[in-house]
Amino acid sequence: MYDVVILGAGPAGLTAGIYAARGGLSVAIVENQAPGGQAALTSEIENYPGFKSIGGFELTSLMVAQCEGLGVAFVFDNPVNVSLDGDVKVVDTAYSGRLEARSAIIATGALPRPLGLERESALIGGGVSYCATCDGALFRGKRVAVVGGGNTAVEDALYLSKFASEVCLIHRRDALRADALLSERVKASSVRILWDTVVTALEGSPKLTSLALKNVRTGETSSLPVDGVFIAAGRKPASEGLTGVELDEAGYVLTDDEMRTNLPGVFAAGDIRRKTLRQVVTAAADGAIAAENAVKYVNALR
Ligand code: NAP
Repeated sequence: MYDVVILGAGPAGLTAGIYAARGGLSVAIVENQAPGGQAALTSEIENYPGFKSIGGFELTSLMVAQCEGLGVAFVFDNPVNVSLDGDVKVVDTAYSGRLEARSAIIATGALPRPLGLERESALIGGGVSYCATCDGALFRGKRVAVVGGGNTAVEDALYLSKFASEVCLIHRRDALRADALLSERVKASSVRILWDTVVTALEGSPKLTSLALKNVRTGETSSLPVDGVFIAAGRKPASEGLTGVELDEAGYVLTDDEMRTNLPGVFAAGDIRRKTLRQVVTAAADGAIAAENAVKYVNALR
């Protein structure tokens, strides 16, 4: 029986691990992918205090090492059944058996949201990607497009411009959602921005060869030849299977300022929470608060 089981090894879960372990709890972190979460897939992080610029993988690897140094147990497995509403929090994993804990911290984060186009999932690996840092190098010297106007899309476009022969950023509006600094940087770069434009179809078989586009202001349609498209059209919360935990209409976990959910002894931290600013630094802050409250909760049980 652990004192706390943490679901997710992104910056929120890892920071919770550090604080919970330093608070004297026995800690297990369950992660169904590589550690580091979305942050690990970010090429450069330029807004985490103390680092002018640091690779996302490097930053999250330091957090993992810090957890390991404090004795946090990592379980890399798929949680197939999560039951958090009893006094004992239970996580059944696909291969590593059952974990039990006195408290739980949900830090499962968010996943890329698909555009919902026909053959979108069939073309993953055939030109469609949701991760520029993972797949960008495969498009060296090739033509690529990025869909979206947020921080991820702009960062991806700038990152891809190091490899690709041509990068088009396709945004459905006439203003970027990304931070001012990133927006200015992409406007000054070699990235071509197609404003007021949406992708209506993915063309080519078995591999992507072009995108069918529509200008939402003029209604004009066109075709853009590409070898790859990186979709950065927002995220969806990874809250599947969290029965009994109160979620908002979009699937984000509702917490109070102390990261408490509606279930006793269950806290949530990071991008999985309903909140306004989703950044590594706010995920880390949530993780610290959630862990502090898990420590108080477990100590009160003793
Ligand atoms: P986001 O901020 O939600 O932006 C999603 C973008 O995709 C928006 O520009 C949106 O257009 C567009 N979009 C949504 N649905 C679409 C559709 N069906 N078709 C075409 N375009 C669509 O998502 P994100 O960029 O992944 O960022 C997620 C969170 O992580 C944000 O809070 C962001 O600040 C944070 N983040 C921060 C950093 C950083 O600070 N360095 C880096 C990455 C992510 P509209 O603008 O018209 O809504």
